[in-house]
Amino acid sequence: AMSLAACRDTVEVPEKAVFKEDDLTEDNEPLKIGFAMDTLKEERWLKDRKLFQEAIESHGLEVEIRAANGDDALQIAQAEEMIHQGIDLLVIVPHNAEATAAIVHKAHGAGIKVIAYDRLVKNADIDLYVSFDNERVGELQAEEMLKRVPKGNYVYIGGAPTDNNAHLLKKGVFNVLQPAIDRGDIRIIYDQWTADWAPEAAYAHMSEALNINDNQIDAVIAANDATAGGVVKALTDQGLAGTIPVAGQDAELAAVRRIVEGTQTMTVYKPIQNLSERVAALAIHLAQNNEFKPTVSINNGKSEVPSVLLEPIAVTADNLKEVIIADEFHSEEEVYGKE
Ligand code: BGC
Repeated sequence: AMSLAACRDTVEVPEKAVFKEDDLTEDNEPLKIGFAMDTLKEERWLKDRKLFQEAIESHGLEVEIRAANGDDALQIAQAEEMIHQGIDLLVIVPHNAEATAAIVHKAHGAGIKVIAYDRLVKNADIDLYVSFDNERVGELQAEEMLKRVPKGNYVYIGGAPTDNNAHLLKKGVFNVLQPAIDRGDIRIIYDQWTADWAPEAAYAHMSEALNINDNQIDAVIAANDATAGGVVKALTDQGLAGTIPVAGQDAELAAVRRIVEGTQTMTVYKPIQNLSERVAALAIHLAQNNEFKPTVSINNGKSEVPSVLLEPIAVTADNLKEVIIADEFHSEEEVYGKE
């Protein structure tokens, strides 16, 4: 297991990988990186796709991209197809943390290294895992909510149980809430996973939570902004939107607008550009058969996976200009509308 302190170490990562003449394959083609994505449903994944492609191409390499639309069999088939086409390294965002282990075996059988992007692959010998510190994301959410609601009834709307991140987020939330729970200051009155992170499912869960508790809810932590959107919709139905603090993550445009309008309290910003550029540089580094040994490793049930975890940032109405807009994640016009 990793220690939290270790996981927050800064690690030496090659910022720039340089394309060299001997990066040409036997047939004189540049190295090719495969990117097997899960879904493009949430807004962030479109950024991931675009920024990762740009990062790889900026080094003079080629990238093949597939998205599996939440379908495990399709994701495996797409990865196999890329392996057969002769990619030199595979980067994967697993839909299902366990099912995708099959892809890692196939890739390794073909001599291709695999990097887990944003989400960990469990029970497989993956070569590297690069993500944000997801446990920290949950902690940031709970810290902000506890500041605003030190006592009362809390609802937790979790992510997809098939996604390792959903478990890390929940762990982080409860790291912070547990002492307040133990003191009897707060009560968790509803706690539910959300299949495939679907906003409709989150809406149904939140409607149920309101219904069975006679609307006596003081704070809601949702695992991401998509599920927070479902939560706010359920609150709107009851005329409660804006009166009950809601936390999310991703800094999706819709969520940032809800923060401006007051129906969502906070989100967690994860600079996607840092992630995509870091993975691109490391993908090239590993595809060139260089060694990379970060100080952090995370046990995925099979091995100690070399890992790089980037820092997430809490965002409220107070700092969204300095964080989100200054970083050009969304423009001022997108967030506040035209004058
Ligand atoms: C990602 C979140 C995203 C969620 C749903 C998680 O693994 O870390 O950023 O909102 O998946 O796609």
